[in-house]
Amino acid sequence: MGTGRQHDAIAIQNADVQVGVARRARLVADLDPGGIQRGREGQSLVKEGLLDVGGSGFPIPHDAEGPLGDRRVVHDPGDDPRGIGKDQESQNKPLHLAGKYIQIGTVNTNRTDVWIRGGGVAGLTAAWHCRKAGLQVVVTDTAAIGSGASGAWWALMNPATGVQPAPVAGIRQAMVGFELMRNELGLDGVGWIKAGIWRPALDKALANGFAKAAAHPDWPAGWLRMDRPMHGLAGSGVLRVAAGYAIDMRLWLTAVAARLGAMGVDIRENVPQHHTVPARHRVDCIGMELLTDPAWAHLRLHPIKGQLREVLVNGIRGQFPALSARGYAIQTDTDRWVIGSTYEHDFTDAKPDAAYDAYLIDRFKAMFPQPVSVTVVGRWAGVRIGSHNRQPILARHPEDETRWAVTGMGSKGLVYSQILGRELADRLTADP
Ligand SMILES: Cc1cc2nc3c(=O)[nH]c(=O)nc-3n(C[C@H](O)[C@H](O)[C@H](O)COP(=O)(O)OP(=O)(O)OC[C@H]3O[C@@H](n4cnc5c(N)ncnc54)[C@H](O)[C@@H]3O)c2cc1C
Repeated sequence: MGTGRQHDAIAIQNADVQVGVARRARLVADLDPGGIQRGREGQSLVKEGLLDVGGSGFPIPHDAEGPLGDRRVVHDPGDDPRGIGKDQESQNKPLHLAGKYIQIGTVNTNRTDVWIRGGGVAGLTAAWHCRKAGLQVVVTDTAAIGSGASGAWWALMNPATGVQPAPVAGIRQAMVGFELMRNELGLDGVGWIKAGIWRPALDKALANGFAKAAAHPDWPAGWLRMDRPMHGLAGSGVLRVAAGYAIDMRLWLTAVAARLGAMGVDIRENVPQHHTVPARHRVDCIGMELLTDPAWAHLRLHPIKGQLREVLVNGIRGQFPALSARGYAIQTDTDRWVIGSTYEHDFTDAKPDAAYDAYLIDRFKAMFPQPVSVTVVGRWAGVRIGSHNRQPILARHPEDETRWAVTGMGSKGLVYSQILGRELADRLTADP
């Protein structure tokens, strides 16, 4: 940790990160002192309403078998004091893609409240929350939107990970936040977001863990269901995560950027390194670049490389929702899947490495009872950022109160960026 002024950094889940003395008492009251924890304890955060997203209720689950239909949560921004009612019309404009170092959308050049550096899932989700809170936002990226770890071809927004999944506090708000974002940005029902995740229990121990999880009262009704072994899938049963999603991240981020542009967020891609934006606050969402930024050395971050493969598959019949067992697999066409991922803590470069093909393919094949043949047609790698206690971090710089960072989301960027983005917007609006 740094010296001098104490850090006004919450790490939403990080008891070790110090916070300013005055704020600390409040934070401890608001946030569980241990941060977001698993299970009942963590739910206190939800009860406090700290991370509530505006009384819209919780998503009523869809399932992989059918769309959510008219049961989907519909958010009326007109009722939301933080809403963006006047911008609604512009959201109906057709999508257009962000170009090379261009500005999209209408820009109020008089005043910038927040300069967000980095157009990955952290930066764009934070931009959405801040814009909804009425802030003027500029997002810059030294490359293209989604060119960091968030560009993972397909990624899961899975509220039920692990061998005996338990809800992390804030998970409901994260799932609702994502639904609202889709809804308000007019990206509902698009084909590159798939509802529902199936988790085949590949052995009895996993099946027991899943069954216990599905029966646990901490889970919102309908989010999880333990099912019998299913035809076409290996294992002793399947945990159906009705509330989960699989998302084509490149399309998601590009579309979000375009919609944010229509909401008046100024998005600049491919800016030079030295490009600066005068603003009241600066938020660093720069992924792995944080590792080498001395200003954030006290956060004790570390890189975790992950790899994906696009594969052509023979021997699997039918259509599956996203699968998650040892790794995940998303069927993107009849015979085409994206499979992943690795967790490499020791690596020399961030490039894909064919030596991991067999590892990923074996884990994919284990999900099916029949022989399956697999050909790799694409490789992708990215570097996620982990924190020392595996909890995501929203940090305010100890020496410069106008400077923030969002990081440490590991492999759960979609979930944590909703929680941190909302929290950031709340703090910035409370701190004019
Ligand atoms: C293999 C793999 C699988 C994954 N699977 C999942 C999954 O299933 N579910 C899930 O939720 N997430 C998944 N992720 C994403 C993961 O959760 C990451 O934690 C998340 O993408 C991090 O997002 P970020 O916005 O913090 O960083 P990044 O996505 O890395 O974004 C950082 C951005 O900052 C830009 N930048 C860098 N320097 C500067 C600068 N000086 N100025 C301006 N911009 C700068 C970069 O160009 C980049 O666009 C996966 C990632 C990998 C690698």
